[in-house]
Amino acid sequence: MGTDTPDINSSYGLYIDGEWVSSTGSEYFQTVNPATEQQITDITAGTAADVDRAVDAARSAFPAWRDTDPDERGRIVSRIGDLVREHSDELARLESLDQGKPLSQAKSDMEGAARYFEYYAGAADKLEGTSVPVGSDQIDFTLREPYGVSAQITPWNFPGNLFARGVGPALVAGNTTVVKPAEQTPLSTLRLVELCEQAGVPDGVVNVVTGFGEPAGSALSSHPDVDTITFTGSVPTGQVIMKQAADNVTPVTLELGGKNPAVVFPDANLDEAAHWIDKAIFTNAGQICSAADRVIVHESVHDELVDRLVSRAEDYDLGPGLDDADMGPVASAEQFEKVTGYIDVGQSEGATLAAGGGTPERDGYFVEPTIFTDVSNDMRLAQEEIFGPVLSVIPFEDEAAAFEIANDVEYGLVGGIFTADVRRALRFSRDLEAGNVYVNKWFGDTNQTPFGGYKKSGIGREKGLEALDSYLQTKNVAINLSEGDTGSLPGA
Ligand code: NAP
Repeated sequence: MGTDTPDINSSYGLYIDGEWVSSTGSEYFQTVNPATEQQITDITAGTAADVDRAVDAARSAFPAWRDTDPDERGRIVSRIGDLVREHSDELARLESLDQGKPLSQAKSDMEGAARYFEYYAGAADKLEGTSVPVGSDQIDFTLREPYGVSAQITPWNFPGNLFARGVGPALVAGNTTVVKPAEQTPLSTLRLVELCEQAGVPDGVVNVVTGFGEPAGSALSSHPDVDTITFTGSVPTGQVIMKQAADNVTPVTLELGGKNPAVVFPDANLDEAAHWIDKAIFTNAGQICSAADRVIVHESVHDELVDRLVSRAEDYDLGPGLDDADMGPVASAEQFEKVTGYIDVGQSEGATLAAGGGTPERDGYFVEPTIFTDVSNDMRLAQEEIFGPVLSVIPFEDEAAAFEIANDVEYGLVGGIFTADVRRALRFSRDLEAGNVYVNKWFGDTNQTPFGGYKKSGIGREKGLEALDSYLQTKNVAINLSEGDTGSLPGA
């Protein structure tokens, strides 16, 4: 992996109906390198009229794409995976530059993006319905059909990987798509759509409209000709999108935030627990929905665990993502203000800074890996998603208290337990109000495993075969076998 700057155009248009086009408006915005605060390039600020054009293109392309043989759809999606793998260094450099993450993390995200296309490509010709036993006079079966136009609204923390997570299953199921990437990090998406074209995706099947949440995002989520919406982002935006979708009765899949507990018992291997928790909170500078931002630790091993975590936090070397430093900057000036604001909140709430808390004297939006102790679960520090490299440590006395603290948040995305006691691990897995549970590790998810939230962390599941349910609707077909049978009215 080199540190060369990737090739960047001096400005980017919109990708609609297989072409790079200008906006109906004349506005551009700048995407910024968070490690230097310097402008990278100009990006088109899409308008509501641009979204109309993209949705029209996706609508027109839908019948032919739906009717393309599934094995051919699978081959095209598989070729996207091949191209993403082939270009993963270039894509990783783009994302590292635009988002700030260390190059090796960006590379791993792109490997994951290639895997999504490969994994879903294999499912294209296996999306089977079922036959339903209803008696000898009727044959009954189900068809699984695409919705039509799938809107994909993505966040700035894993833009390339999440493009693949949504577009891959949408395409194999026979839907066409319009993607609106976050304004902070559009570059990898703009390159990925070129690779889709190169792979043979027909015109209009994948469209990209860059721009702001308002007007471009909201024009998409409130569009009457969009048939299903996949949104990944914050709870407040998810709530707005759900309300907009309600007007058109458009189904939504929402992957939202988290405030995820890592519970550590005295019988855990503390070195291993510290290793996983450190990765779980400081990878991508904590800007991960499944970050372990609350450590709930038994009071008898509190100090031993904190010592290990602090020593790891103090070892981080901060620097530009393209230099593959241990930790890059947070992704934007806005995120820098938010994260440093929470560090102030933690101190004013009476928590103790055990590590970090500062911002290095340099250009770029860098925040030190930060650990707070003496946190109680009712503090804002423990309840609100910070989305930065800030860990809260909360002590507990017994298992009942630990599980109660773990669940006492409005989120329910992921959670983990560190213990040698298998029964306790299973009790936790049963009782945790979250869509994903990790035992003696973190980030146990793969492309094949379903992922999504309980409570305010979301609706529906991404990843795995379960994600295909967001892109397919079921039609039941009932066939009368008995001639001359006028039948009886069904009981409802
Ligand atoms: P965000 O502010 O909610 O934005 C997400 C996307 O929604 C962006 O493309 C944004 O556009 C767009 N948007 C904003 N307002 C909109 C509106 N009114 N209508 C339609 N679209 C609108 O989230 P973020 O700050 O980018 O991402 C961080 C959040 O994502 C965190 O809460 C994190 O936990 C969550 N996340 C969840 C998962 C998961 O799988 N559960 C994965 C990754 C991230 P602009 O940015 O251009 O305004």
